[in-house]
Amino acid sequence: MIRIDHLTFEYPNQFALNDVSCSFQKNAITALVGPNGAGKTTLLKCLSALLKPYSGHITVDGIDVIENPRDVNKVMGFLPDFFGLYDELTIYQSLYYFALAHNFEHDLIENRIVEVVERLALSNKMHEKTGTLSRGMRQRLAIGQAIIHRPKVLLLDEPASGLDPEARHSLALLFHELKEQGMTLVVSSHILAELDAYADNLIILKEGKVSENSILKEVENVGVKIEFSLLFEVASLRADLEKIKGVGAIFMDHKNVSLTFNGDEAEQHELLKHLLNAKVPISQFYIKKANIQDQYLDIVRKN
Ligand code: ATP
Repeated sequence: MIRIDHLTFEYPNQFALNDVSCSFQKNAITALVGPNGAGKTTLLKCLSALLKPYSGHITVDGIDVIENPRDVNKVMGFLPDFFGLYDELTIYQSLYYFALAHNFEHDLIENRIVEVVERLALSNKMHEKTGTLSRGMRQRLAIGQAIIHRPKVLLLDEPASGLDPEARHSLALLFHELKEQGMTLVVSSHILAELDAYADNLIILKEGKVSENSILKEVENVGVKIEFSLLFEVASLRADLEKIKGVGAIFMDHKNVSLTFNGDEAEQHELLKHLLNAKVPISQFYIKKANIQDQYLDIVRKN
């Protein structure tokens, strides 16, 4: 649905995207993650034609974004990290305004607004001024404004920031619903623990470059997370673990060790046997399924 080839963007005195190439799968939710300043916002702005790249190509649903920025806005919705609402307008008026701005067919606007406020659980607030809404409701209205014209692609920059756990949970459900209806979503987020709830794919940006483009759905065997506690610290343990096949990121905190491990049951057995043979003083040993956060840390560490 989205293809980016050799994209480079530069602010005065600052390289923000450096030869970025990746693709975003159709009808899936792709999480765009990375440390502060990695270039996530810049990439989303290039995708939505708000910034013009220095070089490279972007196509969205077959449309060349750089050549035809207006066309791309017909098929795309964008929720920026800092969005403004018209506080003096009601929810209904705000959505009406955005529908008109997108040239939505006049006779159909009324029905579309009802559909959107229902989906966003804002029906009972429809005629209230946006200035009176809570943070979570404002966020939902901003998403409503971004989807009023039924875009095929929705870009969301840090949509969960500032929301309470319940609001974040309902946001994840909304993402699923939008995907079910055929939309392709790109969500930039810092809240890694929550990506497991909705992300199908993960794209990691680091210092303006793509670190990894892994499709989680297809990576059934992403490995496990192994955690163990020691009776006392062992100085050579890290170096020893690094030599073992399948061992990924290792985190050591005094007597507690955690590592990602990509291997089958027999290899897990070999790992445990190796530790015991090496007389590593293990007091507790756990195996957990690796989550998206573990994978992210694993990938970032390797790059
Ligand atoms: P965060 O997670 O903190 O929001 P990000 O991954 O979204 O960060 P960007 O906002 O895209 O990163 O910034 C990428 C780089 O470009 C950073 O080094 C940033 O300082 C720089 N940058 C961003 N906007 C501007 C600007 N308007 N002028 C100059 N440099 C900028």
